[in-house]
Parts: sequence; C-alpha cells; structure tokens
Amino acid sequence: MNSFQPPRRILMGPGPSEVSPRVLAALARPTIGHLDPAFQDLMEEIKAGLSRLMNAPGYACVPLPAPGTAGMEAAIMNLLQPGERAVIAVNGAFGGRMADMAGRAGAVAVVVDHEWGQPVDAARVEAALAEAPAKVLAFVHAETSTGVRSDAAALCAAARRHGALSVVDCVTSLGGIVVDAAAWDADVIYSGTQKCLSAPPGLSPIALSPRAQAAIAARTEKPRNWLLDFQLLMSYWGGDGGRTYHHTAPINALYGLHEGLVALFEEGQQAAIVRHARTHEALAAGIEALGLEFLVAPQHRLPQLNTVRVPRGIDEAAVRAKVLADWDLEIGAGLGPLKGQVWRIGLMGASATPWHVRLCLTALAAALADQGLAVDARAGLAAADRRLAA
Ligand code: PLP
Repeated sequence: MNSFQPPRRILMGPGPSEVSPRVLAALARPTIGHLDPAFQDLMEEIKAGLSRLMNAPGYACVPLPAPGTAGMEAAIMNLLQPGERAVIAVNGAFGGRMADMAGRAGAVAVVVDHEWGQPVDAARVEAALAEAPAKVLAFVHAETSTGVRSDAAALCAAARRHGALSVVDCVTSLGGIVVDAAAWDADVIYSGTQKCLSAPPGLSPIALSPRAQAAIAARTEKPRNWLLDFQLLMSYWGGDGGRTYHHTAPINALYGLHEGLVALFEEGQQAAIVRHARTHEALAAGIEALGLEFLVAPQHRLPQLNTVRVPRGIDEAAVRAKVLADWDLEIGAGLGPLKGQVWRIGLMGASATPWHVRLCLTALAAALADQGLAVDARAGLAAADRRLAA
C-alpha cells in the first residue's frame, strides 16, 4: 500500500463542498482524549455554537457522530414509536428516505407526495394533519435532489396547529439560507457538515426543542437504535461536563466543525447568506446567458444548489466527465426521475465564491461546445460579472 494522495478537485456538486484550508488545518491537530478536560471545553463551545447557528436557545444542540442521515435517523427513531402516525412530505429523494425510516420505526407513515422540482405544499400537508392526529410532521427544508426550498415557517406552524412535532431536514440549508429554530418554533432540526459549513462529511448537528425532549422522555419503549438513542447520547453530551462514556467522539472531526463555526461567525451568518445569494444570482445570470434553463422557478430556488436542465441532444454524463477531466471540476448528476435530465451545481460554503462561478461557467461552456452546442462563453461570464458588480 502507498499513502493516498487525492487528486486536485474543485467541488461544485451537491456535497461534499470545498473544505476551507483552516478547517483542514484544524483536522490535523493532535488527537487528545475524548474525556480530557480540554476536549470537554471544546464540546461545550460546539454546543453553544450550534445553538447560535440554528438560533435554538433552550434546545439540546449536539453534533451526532455520523453524516446527515444520522440526524434524520435520530429524529425519526427517537420521536416515533410503533403504531404512531407521521405525516411525511416528499418532494425529492430525501423526503422519501424519511418516509422509509418512519416505516422502519414501525410508525404509520402518511406520505404527502409532490412532483420533483416543486416545494412542499403547506395546504396539502395541513389537510393530512387535520385528517387524524399525527405525532410528527417531517419535511426537507432544502431538497438537494431538486434544488427547491420549502417554507419551513409555514410548515412548522401547521405542525403546531395540529399538535404534531416538526422535524426539519436542514442538511443543505444550514449556513446557506436562513435556518431559525426559534422563529419557526421547530422541534427537531438536523444538518450535515459537508454542505454550507465548509467542513468534511461525518457529523450531523441536531437541535431538539424542550417539547421534543419531553416526547422522547415519555416514550413507553426504548428506541430501536443504540448509538443515536437521544437519552443515552445526552449522558455524554448533556450537562456541563462530568460526562460518562457513551461512544468515542470523532475528536478530530469535531476540531474541524469547531473551526468551521469559528470561521462562519467571523464572516457573519448574515454575510454568509448574502454571499450564497450573490454567487447564485451570478451563476444563474451566466447559465441563462449560455442559453441554459433552470428546473426550478426563481422564487423556489436554493442559492446553494442549482439544478440546470440538460439541453436536448447533450450527453449529460459526458459533460460531467469532461469538466472533471479538463478542469478538475465536480458537478452533480440528477437523481431518481431527474437522472440524465439535470446537472446539480453546488455553491455551498467555501465553494460559494465568484471564482467558482466563473470557473463553472467557463468549464460548462467548453464542455457543451465540445458536443457541438453553440454557446457563447464570453456572454455567460459577462452576465455573471455584471451581476457580481451590481
Ligand atoms: N438530507 C438532505 C437534504 C441531503 O442533501 C443529504 C445528503 O446529501 C442528506 C439528508 C443525507 O446526508 P448524508 O449524506 O450526510 O448522510
């Protein structure tokens, strides 16, 4: 065996996104014990940082030791007991995953299905909640498979009106658009580190409201998973130290998350959100000037995940292969019904810069020209630059 040297890559897919150099440097610092007093201080800072990031005062905020799916699984498995009713809004791949998990928890999953590319329809969800009492309403705030944003405030409010606990997937939204647990009065919010937080994959920040914690404490049977059993986890993460062993925390990954939070607060959360919006607007202007179209209507688009339709006659996979080979640039493919139909271009975290926008437009124009499509690369770049200068 030889040491692995990753090739140079510019990550503009649906995640992971680029990891900032300062986070990479933090990951390489010496490993210390997970019960070391210095590490316990770091844990407290991370908990406070996550609470600030999600605006979740009074919530239990911890980073779960696995990627975003862990947050989803923790939320579903801890809140739902066999036979309980859960309304799950599905408008893409990740809502579908939630519904699968709810079924595995033994719950009765009532799926409110949507066309891919559309936001969750709050009125249809409310009708499902009104039909019969539900313990949980789960939905995806930023559906990465389609690039659509749903109205989290309206959906959480619908859950409250019907006495359901809201579970909000913020894997792609956190750090890129507004996530506000307190304003939404949300019950569980979870995310991942590899999208807009500029850290590598492997951790899932989660926030649980006092209502969610009370519902978990009132369970009549233990959750069926051990690692993500919230009560057990909090014996390690809860309180202010004096922890008991539960699992060995991914120590260096937590250094990375901590550094990502420090960097984000230095930039300013609002400034980071504005940066995502500006780079998206520039990319969208450039994409349209190249004669390409978005899948999603402007008012529902996610700045951090841009879904661009593949023009007729163009080989979708060949374009991705070409930009990777010629420009070291990774963009994403479509999933499910969108396979072969779209590219998914991420502008997340450290990948949301004007430089990334220009690189992507240049590479895409060259790959399309290579397949014989007449695109005006200069017009694409000029349109993006005009937007950035505005
Ligand atoms: N939810 C959404 C919206 C996602 O985009 C993803 C991953 O892309 C996940 C959940 C799952 O996260 P992970 O792949 O980190 O387990």
